[in-house]
Amino acid sequence: MNTKNSKVFIEDFMNYVKSKDPGQPEFHQAVKEVVETLADFLLANPRYIHAQILERMVEPERVIQFRIPWTDDRGNIHINRGYRVEMNSSIGPYKGGLRFHPTVNQGILKFLAFEQVLKNSLTSLPMGGGKGGSDFDPKNKTDNEVMHFCQSFMSELFRHIGQNTDIPAGDIGVGGREIGFLFGQYKRLRNEFTGVLTGKGIEWGGSLIRPEATGYGTVYFAEEMLKTKGDSIKGKTVLISGSGNVAQFATEKVIELGGKVVTLSDSSGTIYDPDGIDSEKLAFIMELKNIHRGRIKEYADKYGVQHLHKQRPWNIKCDVALPCATENEIDKNDAISLIKNGCFVVAEGANMPSNLEAVHHFLNSKILYGPGKAANAGGVAVSGLEMTQNSMRLAWSRNEVDKKLHSIMVDIHQMCVEFGKDADGYVNYVKGANIGGFVKVANSMIAQGLV
Ligand code: NDP
Repeated sequence: MNTKNSKVFIEDFMNYVKSKDPGQPEFHQAVKEVVETLADFLLANPRYIHAQILERMVEPERVIQFRIPWTDDRGNIHINRGYRVEMNSSIGPYKGGLRFHPTVNQGILKFLAFEQVLKNSLTSLPMGGGKGGSDFDPKNKTDNEVMHFCQSFMSELFRHIGQNTDIPAGDIGVGGREIGFLFGQYKRLRNEFTGVLTGKGIEWGGSLIRPEATGYGTVYFAEEMLKTKGDSIKGKTVLISGSGNVAQFATEKVIELGGKVVTLSDSSGTIYDPDGIDSEKLAFIMELKNIHRGRIKEYADKYGVQHLHKQRPWNIKCDVALPCATENEIDKNDAISLIKNGCFVVAEGANMPSNLEAVHHFLNSKILYGPGKAANAGGVAVSGLEMTQNSMRLAWSRNEVDKKLHSIMVDIHQMCVEFGKDADGYVNYVKGANIGGFVKVANSMIAQGLV
């Protein structure tokens, strides 16, 4: 394809997106990454351009914004802002997590929802895309305060969601505790027990392996990438960022497969344990983070290792990097440093953890680079399996769900190879994931007419 045409196409489209919503840089970034890799494909398949599919895909079907008043334990009143971005329902009901973090705004949720549409399509399960949340900060709040907040949040959200309409799940700041409070309030308001949320507790409709799914899936994806080189995780030194849900279970799976995880982090800094985090140390982290809700520095104090204050892990020598914290946590300098120090596999547990310059650097260096929408799709895939079990009113065993998760990750990897292989044999997983995810959604939108 004529490169001049695709360059102009990308520029024109990005000008269009930016002119509509100038204040949403993360959304622009997510769209640009997709359009850069889709441009040649679209120019070769003009029916998608004629049907204005991209223009339709960047416009959410619906955005809901609402007020969340709640009281803290001292009786003070607080007002937060809640959102649900219902992005695309062409292949199934809206599906995607809720994020509670002070940085949440409409632009962040639109980037996450846009990625979610393509990710959900890649899983081959019938799920559309959405995302929601609030600028509420669960840090330093009591369980009682979190419950009051969740009840107020759901008192508005309940009228917009449903098991056949929109099925939220967790994300940053929303784990098992929050899903429980949200589910309880939904059930009370609707007087029905349905699978309206995923990530539920195992005693009340949740699926085995759902808490593990994103982290495990990311490592399964990394393992598939390594297999293309006749290699595996065994014996590899691995950097992981974050210490929440995704990071914890990615660590667990790397340990199980014989790799050595030497870092974890939170927003206050990184711990570096050159001997590796073993199962016992991981159990300490899980209790620290999930029960005491403490800071990762306490690991450094307990085990006498370095705490790199306010630093990210990317300057440490490794073979594999699994960013599992948040967006834009790897910039160009981090990418350069990773590759200089021997890293040749990056699989993203987080959503859009690498900025565009870092992505370009990984691709130009031709390392194995698995973007979040492919590598972390295991979480939503098992959410899809939770919905199936809820509809059938039965529960699969741990082994059954893990096997299905593994096979979905293998299939996503295969789809990336199919759509992403360059003429020189290098697999551009960004291109593979974007085209692989796009086609099913685009064809469904065309089939369903102008809605
Ligand atoms: P958690 O809230 O469980 O953990 C988030 C971790 O990332 C914490 O260690 C947190 O540190 C750190 N973090 C968050 N924001 C920042 C920041 N601005 N700067 C530095 N560190 C930060 O979230 P999850 O593990 O669920 O999510 C992590 C990533 O994975 C997100 O990008 C999410 O969108 C993505 N993801 C999650 C899925 C899931 O199933 N949960 C599915 C697919 C993707 P601190 O406690 O200090 O804030």
